[in-house]
Amino acid sequence: MASYCHGACRCDDCRRANTLYHRELRKRLRARIGTPYEAVPHGTAGGYANHGCRCRDCSEAHRQAMVSSYAKRKARSGAQRKNSR
Ligand SMILES: [Zn+2]
Ligand SMILES: [Zn+2]
Repeated sequence: MASYCHGACRCDDCRRANTLYHRELRKRLRARIGTPYEAVPHGTAGGYANHGCRCRDCSEAHRQAMVSSYAKRKARSGAQRKNSR
């Protein structure tokens, strides 16, 4: 199943998905260089990640997002371990 393989798989479906993913990534990278400073939604994780803005507000929002996603992942893996026992 295509949805099952993720990562190291080299079947046609996965390769095509990978190519598409990298094409999108490149498009986004190019786009974010062209984002004018005023058009960036400052103070959001998207301003940092999608537009490459490194102003103080965007960096702070990005840091907060990283912290909360890390905490969420940690909480989930902790719950999983508890359930499997
Ligand atoms: Zn595959
Ligand atoms: Zn910014």
